[in-house]
Amino acid sequence: MQAQKTSSESLARYRLKKLLDMLKSKGGRGTQLISLYIPPGRRISDVIAMLRQEYGTAANIKSDTTRKNVQDAIVRVMQRLKLFKETPENGLVIFCGAIPRSGPGTERLETYVVIPPEPINVYLYRCDSRFYVEPLEELLKEKEAYGIIVMDAESATYAILRGRRLEIVKHITSGVPGKHHKGGQSARRFQRLREMKLLNYFARVGKHANEIFLKVPDLKGIIIAGPGPTKYDFAERDYLDYRLKQKVVAILDTAYTEEFGVREVVEKAPEIIAKVRYVEEKKLMQKFLYHIGHDTGLAVYGESEVRRCLKMGAVDTLLISEGLDLIRVVIRCSSCGYEEARLLKAREVPKLESSLPYRPCPKCGQTTLRVESKEELVEDLARLAEEMGTRVEIISTATEEGQMLKETFGGVAGILRFAPSF
Ligand SMILES: [Zn+2]
Repeated sequence: MQAQKTSSESLARYRLKKLLDMLKSKGGRGTQLISLYIPPGRRISDVIAMLRQEYGTAANIKSDTTRKNVQDAIVRVMQRLKLFKETPENGLVIFCGAIPRSGPGTERLETYVVIPPEPINVYLYRCDSRFYVEPLEELLKEKEAYGIIVMDAESATYAILRGRRLEIVKHITSGVPGKHHKGGQSARRFQRLREMKLLNYFARVGKHANEIFLKVPDLKGIIIAGPGPTKYDFAERDYLDYRLKQKVVAILDTAYTEEFGVREVVEKAPEIIAKVRYVEEKKLMQKFLYHIGHDTGLAVYGESEVRRCLKMGAVDTLLISEGLDLIRVVIRCSSCGYEEARLLKAREVPKLESSLPYRPCPKCGQTTLRVESKEELVEDLARLAEEMGTRVEIISTATEEGQMLKETFGGVAGILRFAPSF
């Protein structure tokens, strides 16, 4: 269950990021690109009524071209909306506008309908010279929570970091005296008492941590920080509940304690959070490499092998490199039905397309080859995987293992449920 969730997550994020990059690259002439955000629960008929009003308002636009483009776009958006009986459960986002192909007068109306991977709680209509993608970009930010404990021998501060939102939850003081005694009692007795008080304080630090962090949903990790060695003494003992201890992802040095110390941790957090995902990616890749190394027959790689196993439903986990930028082009002969698939870099596609009319079909010899379909290999494989209930993981090239996936294994690999017999 947990695995299934992460799988669609890395794929959904990858897809959304690609889409947003594409939308950001589009610019209109003047303010004529429409962005429409509809939150879950909003009635489609209400939205259409609002758009009718916007259509009326747009009649006041002075420039003939801009007015026409905006009104055309509004009409197109309304047409698209009518295809929905109701707003999808995560809401709906539509981008529409006239995008210039090259010079002036080459604008063409483009429409993008996005169903967000998570609920989008914004109701907004905007007409601008660019598409407004920020609310969707917010969804790409990390949502998982991290617990932070900043401590030294004097105090401990607890905080929860979720996305960019930081909440300082609690602060306790230790009551432990400083390291050096000022006389009166023997040095040994002083040290023994101090040690006891310190352990007592550790127990309190752990007790509060358990109370605070065990009930945080989606807690991804715990970061322990602070100046000096006290945090290590605490971390290596068993004062934290074992479920939390398993989640300690970093122990950091900070210059300060209390809120300033927490702020220091937050500054370093993006790096730590990225590392947590890298560890997940490394583990997945190591599992694949284990099967390769031990020749268990439960690992495959390379586009054609993986595709074959996917179609058989034999793949448990599909590993796709983020660095895989190949387009799968299917060529078909309209005379004899001959078909072949090619993997090309995006920039090589136009060259192939323009050469096709001159190339005789290898089967019938006619010059009737056409591009039947072209799709990014990632999307093509991911769709196949989803149909077969295969978990999909997009693996970055940030780790050594991720580099290996890209360079050594052709960017596509699979861990199998069973060894297929071909
Ligand atoms: Zn042919």
